[in-house]
Amino acid sequence: MDWKGWKDALIDVVFPGECPICEQGAYRNDGAFACLSCLDELLWINGARCKKCGESMPVPVSIELICSNCREFPLSILSVRSMFKLNEQGRALIHSIKYGGVKRVMGDAPHWFHRNRGFINFIKDAVLIPVPLHRRKMRSRGFNQSLWIAEEFAKVAGGRTVVYDCLERVRSTPSQTKLSRNERRNNVKNAFALRAGTCLDGFNEFVLIDDVYTTGSTLDACAEVLLKSGYPKVRAATMGHG
Ligand SMILES: [Zn+2]
Ligand SMILES: [Zn+2]
Repeated sequence: MDWKGWKDALIDVVFPGECPICEQGAYRNDGAFACLSCLDELLWINGARCKKCGESMPVPVSIELICSNCREFPLSILSVRSMFKLNEQGRALIHSIKYGGVKRVMGDAPHWFHRNRGFINFIKDAVLIPVPLHRRKMRSRGFNQSLWIAEEFAKVAGGRTVVYDCLERVRSTPSQTKLSRNERRNNVKNAFALRAGTCLDGFNEFVLIDDVYTTGSTLDACAEVLLKSGYPKVRAATMGHG
């Protein structure tokens, strides 16, 4: 066995596991958990995008546009940034965190930031607020993936970036997956509130954190809690964009 073979064998012993996307190999790519080839397959959102929801748009970067969805269904939230468009690989990555509970996948966050220009500046020095789970869901899942994402993002962004888990889901809502855009909006209306004892004094810039952006209904319902409390500067950042 050559030196690389020995090194890979040793890494397998020290870091057992596999790429969360293709489920092969592990920890052999500059410390990344996912293979570099799998990270290459993710549809990183760089360049032109909708200035509200962050959707990729086929226009020159200098023209600021709002996509048809955002024109038809205006968001309360100021703007959204997502790391990548959801494809098979993106879904697999998020699935490993959200349903697999593989928290160490979040250790790859620095590699993701390298591939999405401007993402780090979007969240830096802001208060990152994870979208909360209802306590029943929290009990059955055992963790909130949005909190994991927020914590890792804050760690990588550094500076004055902090995580404040200050929202709670006061109403358990049915899954959004099969609902239309309007049904989603009604489904999550008034489902969120500030936790008792929350103090946002001295904070100004807020970024809600979730695993995926789909229609923005959940993020908007969270944003409205902050808007009603007198905090207008609410943005959102997610890993995937559906
Ligand atoms: Zn892979
Ligand atoms: Zn849009």
